[in-house]
Amino acid sequence: EKFNLLGLCQMAIKRFTGAYHREIIFHPQVKEAHILGNKEQLQQVIYILIDNALKYSDREVKLELLTDGTMIIFKVIDYGQGIPEKDLKYIFDRFYRVDKARSRETGGTGLGLPIAKAIAQVHRGELLVESKPGEGTTFTLELPRSQ
Ligand code: ATP
Repeated sequence: EKFNLLGLCQMAIKRFTGAYHREIIFHPQVKEAHILGNKEQLQQVIYILIDNALKYSDREVKLELLTDGTMIIFKVIDYGQGIPEKDLKYIFDRFYRVDKARSRETGGTGLGLPIAKAIAQVHRGELLVESKPGEGTTFTLELPRSQ
C-alpha cells in the first residue's frame, strides 16, 4: 500500500498535542513523502518515537521530514535528559530500560523501541539514535522513497 508519511506526521501531531498539551514543532522540508508499506505499522513507529520524546523531556519536541532522493528521513528531536553512552547500544533490546528507578516513574515495558526498529527493518529501512546526556535525543527513521 502506498501512502504519504507527511499525512501520518500531521495526524500524529494533532493526536499528541491534544493529549499532552505540549508543543510539537514541525516544518517539513518535502511536499510529499510517499512510502510503500504497512501504514498502521509505520504510524505505530511514529507514535512510539513521539511518545518517548514527550515522556523523557519536558520542553518542546521537534519533528523533521526530508529526503536525500532515495530515502525519506524522519527525525524526532527532544531536549530532554538524553541517554547515557553506555546504554545507547542496548535501547533497541527487548525490555531494556535506562535507569530502572527513574524509568519506573514514567511507566512502560521497554518494548516500544525494539518494535519500532523491527518495523523499520521489514520496510528495508533503519532506525538510528543519537543522544547527549543533559542535551537531548534524536531518533532518525529512514525509509525507501516510493516515486
Ligand atoms: P514502552 O514500551 O511503553 O515504550 P519504554 O519507553 O520504557 O516503554 P522503549 O520505548 O523501548 O520503552 O524505550 C527503552 C528505554 O530507552 C526507555 O525506558 C528510556 O530509558 C530510553 N528512551 C527511549 N526514548 C528516549 C528519549 N527520547 N529520551 C531519553 N530516553 C529514552
